[in-house]
Amino acid sequence: MQSISPESIFRGDDAWEKSLPFIADLTKSPLILGRSVHTRNLRNKIFTDLKNQKLNVNSAELEFDCCFEDISRIKNLILKNNHDSVIAAGGGKVLDSGKYIAECLKIPCITIPLSASTCAGWTALSNIYSKNGQFIKDVSLRSCPKILVYDHKFIQTAPSRTLASGIADALAKWYESSITSTKIEDGLVQQSIQISRVLRDQLLIDGEKAFNGKFKNHPSWRNTIEACGLTAGLVGGIGGEKCRTAAAHAIHNSITQIITPNKFLHGEIVGVGILLQLKLEEMKNNNKLADQSIRQLLELMKKLNLPITIEQLGINVFENNNLEKLAEFTCRDKSEIHFLPFEITKEDIVKVITNFERQKIKI
Ligand SMILES: [Zn+2]
Repeated sequence: MQSISPESIFRGDDAWEKSLPFIADLTKSPLILGRSVHTRNLRNKIFTDLKNQKLNVNSAELEFDCCFEDISRIKNLILKNNHDSVIAAGGGKVLDSGKYIAECLKIPCITIPLSASTCAGWTALSNIYSKNGQFIKDVSLRSCPKILVYDHKFIQTAPSRTLASGIADALAKWYESSITSTKIEDGLVQQSIQISRVLRDQLLIDGEKAFNGKFKNHPSWRNTIEACGLTAGLVGGIGGEKCRTAAAHAIHNSITQIITPNKFLHGEIVGVGILLQLKLEEMKNNNKLADQSIRQLLELMKKLNLPITIEQLGINVFENNNLEKLAEFTCRDKSEIHFLPFEITKEDIVKVITNFERQKIKI
């Protein structure tokens, strides 16, 4: 069974208004789930608009990340108040929590991404973290959300940092799927990898202009936010689990194990993971094009103010046994690193990160 996309997708400047009657048909007592103070005004608007549709609406906030503590608290709240749907309005962690909770309770989930930071509004997947933001596991869900509302007016209000993060996460689709799936004969998988290549090209062309934010009604901005929030999800939907994540996400997951005072966004960490994956391809797979890809990516990442080393993510890998911790988690049994078509050992990870952090990357 493969769930390729949400059942209904509303996109554009008036997506929210257009979706309202459909939401009112689907649910009579939704719970709006959100998290950050930054999105509170938008969530209040969503609340009021749903009330005006005569729905019995309530709202709740996550205290932490998409973690079991928050998930069970919200599940109990839904059961106590007899809510018949979850409306997840926020970034990736909120969307992942909403989808997971809805699946557990067998009620529909409506996703309203409030930034372009990930494709979590689309996918049938939830990443579970600890309260402190340490990656635990990803869970495949039975289906994508029932309704996805990708309202451009809402996404315009998000900080530009979230867009940079979304661009890095969407770029990873090409670098990860193209290396893990080259031997797969399934046409749908091959075509989904080709979509991820076009997606990468679009972001290389339009990403900087979109990030600069002066042109929020410009096609570059629209194409970029839709690439990050929609097309990236479509690649996963068509390619399914064969269109896998690989080293970039495995390294992301291990970096989240080290708790730092400043938290970084998912895509900001994945971006560093892509650079390290390419270094691994160069070192272990004799990939002569990897260096070229790194240079091309670095140029864009610097323009988007994205971190380009683990040090810039607030971690000194040379203290507190951090190198060993990263190598251990990256190479653990169920890690995505093992989807690479060549073997990776802990020593390889220590070596690649050591070289990467010691060189002073300059463009
Ligand atoms: Zn990701």
